[in-house]
Amino acid sequence: MSDERMVIIVAGPGSVGKSAITLQFITQTFVQDHDPTIEESYQKTLTINNKTFPLEIQDTAGQEEYSTLRSHNFRAGNGFLLIYAVDNRKGFEEIEEFRKEITRAKDCDNVPIVLCANKIDLPIKEHEVSKKEGQDLAKNYQVPFIETSAKEVININEAFQSIVKLVVENEQSKKSK
Ligand code: GDP
Ligand code: MG
Repeated sequence: MSDERMVIIVAGPGSVGKSAITLQFITQTFVQDHDPTIEESYQKTLTINNKTFPLEIQDTAGQEEYSTLRSHNFRAGNGFLLIYAVDNRKGFEEIEEFRKEITRAKDCDNVPIVLCANKIDLPIKEHEVSKKEGQDLAKNYQVPFIETSAKEVININEAFQSIVKLVVENEQSKKSK
């Protein structure tokens, strides 16, 4: 990891709320209509238990045609928020592809990833993916699972804290080997 900034990449299929989550974390506002083609990176310092972590957050845009570029970007990531939306079954089924791309880009099976089920504010009748399915996938990947809403500000800070902690643990376990 670079000595200065931990790089957190916000990844996942299109329109699941990657930009909304990133911008809610960075600006504390819900951005309803963010241009889906924009890839942007932001800097923010997160404090956990009186320790500060300077972060670089990369909001990705998930178009298929940029898959090679995406893998290239993934290589720079220290940790990943892998997002799906609970009202989007197709996107949920694409998560595996994203995880493969991440592990391939990092050339490692043990990459710090937090699986996020976004848009949890939506009424249950609009949900196409159950909590259990999300939990089972996370268990299968052996990664934390968290339900978020960029709109209602549910678990946004927690998701970033969770991935930062995981990156720190991962670095420590590498050192002790
Ligand atoms: P991205 O393509 O993954 O970056 O997705 P965006 O952040 O652009 O969001 C796609 C759409 O989902 C937009 O219309 C957002 O307003 C909406 N959206 C994003 N997050 C949430 C959320 O937590 N709850 C709800 N209800 N809508 C959301
Ligand atoms: Mg976006």
